[in-house]
Amino acid sequence: MIATKTVASFIGGRFQEAPREKVDEIPNPATGEAVASLPYSSKDQLNQAVAAAKKAFPGWSETPVPDRAQVMFRFKALFDKHIEELSALVTTENGKTLEESRGEVKRAIEVIDFACGAPTLMMGHNLDQIAKGIDEELVRFPVGVVAGITPFNFPNMVPLWMIPVAIVLGNTFVLKPSPLTPLSAMRIAELLVEAGLPDGVFNVVHGAKDAVDTLLTHPDVAGVSFVGSAQVAAYIYATAAANGKRVQALGGAKNHILVMDDADLELSAPHVISSAFGNAGQRCLAGSVAVGVGKIGDALVTELAREAREVKVGPGTDPKTYMGPVIRRERKQRLIEYIDEAEQQGAKLVTDGRQGAPSEGFFLRPTIFDRVTPAMRIWKDELFGPVLSVMRASDIDEALKLLNASSYGNMASIFTTSGKNAREFKRRAQAGMLGVNIGVAAPMAFFPFTGWKNSFFGDLHATGQDSVRFYTRHKVVTTRWL
Ligand code: NAD
Repeated sequence: MIATKTVASFIGGRFQEAPREKVDEIPNPATGEAVASLPYSSKDQLNQAVAAAKKAFPGWSETPVPDRAQVMFRFKALFDKHIEELSALVTTENGKTLEESRGEVKRAIEVIDFACGAPTLMMGHNLDQIAKGIDEELVRFPVGVVAGITPFNFPNMVPLWMIPVAIVLGNTFVLKPSPLTPLSAMRIAELLVEAGLPDGVFNVVHGAKDAVDTLLTHPDVAGVSFVGSAQVAAYIYATAAANGKRVQALGGAKNHILVMDDADLELSAPHVISSAFGNAGQRCLAGSVAVGVGKIGDALVTELAREAREVKVGPGTDPKTYMGPVIRRERKQRLIEYIDEAEQQGAKLVTDGRQGAPSEGFFLRPTIFDRVTPAMRIWKDELFGPVLSVMRASDIDEALKLLNASSYGNMASIFTTSGKNAREFKRRAQAGMLGVNIGVAAPMAFFPFTGWKNSFFGDLHATGQDSVRFYTRHKVVTTRWL
């Protein structure tokens, strides 16, 4: 493993130190202590990374697909072998519990599994005798150099939503991971080298907006995959498209969970708690609004509060911990400001996450508000932390109206024992990923990650067949033999 004291850039198969013009300290969120320093890549290094990817493209894209898939098989074996170490690294830089980190790495491995099927995924199709004496075929080709820009909350999995599929289909790649969690990306680079990936096919650069802008406007970047907050996603979509690139930009979320009064509360509530407070609420699929529908409201609040009080908050390395810290002190402060404001606006504070959390590191306890209204910012905004709003609706129509009024449309769930309610929900909820008695309705890698509204900007989503289409372009060949 490379020394993670100073995080390097990875360009053309070599780890390079960046000039120390702009350096971030990377703390362990559970302790606040620095674990590494991150010098941002220079403009020259950003250009070198794109140049290395461009140079590697002809050789890599001409490599037979089954041979490219072999690299993925070896990469997958390495991920399996190092799962504990990769998970520990996620916990160190992100703070989530080791169990959550293992879940993240396993989800990343699913994408590698998917990419191993490239010879099948990349097949085109044909039609013999489409006209008299004429045949037609569709053939897929890689698009070129792809840039990936990723968030802090899944430092291993989200880069791997992109990298295996993009490269196995013959593209070359420049990753700009979150400057808050850059360590996992470096380990991914090392394992790709060990798996036999040729130099320049995969590169990592570091930085923030300036680095992103360089990639978005670079003439040699053909496509951009982005995952992050909605405002930045909208900017990435507009800027990359204006610069002639194909782009998929996955944004933030405000996910509603409907709990119907026909639901079994004892079975349902733990899923609502784990959706709201797993990963300290820092998941784009976190349930951040629970809607009690019909008579269940009071009982729901009582049960959620009881369970939230039992949540063990602490470092992710402690096997007894249920919820780790949030990512940075400033994010914790911003969450506290939201809680203060909601209280002033009359939401009913049921559990107060500002109290009783460990004092070192960036911890909060679970916060639950009841009687939240659509006028409040805690309902409108994505808070991205362990704060759950409870709302009430008299029936499923009112509940769906609330859900559909959100500017986001990533995920929504329903807890119910009624097939009729589940069907209504499935047909009318305006979100792209739906759960029926599932708290975190995360599609597996074989399906796309289908956010709607401000949760997604673009046409083709990450993972599944969408990603195959995003990372390839087609030719349709019409043939007549005279
Ligand atoms: P973020 O938007 O702050 O950062 C994401 C990436 O964009 C980082 O690499 C960052 O350096 C870069 N960036 C930040 N500001 C930028 C700017 N002004 N111009 C250009 N680039 C910029 O997101 P985050 O806080 O790291 O991650 C959390 C967010 O990601 C949440 O909103 C969460 O919902 C979202 N997310 C969405 C999904 C999804 O599938 N829809 C998955 C995971 C996370």
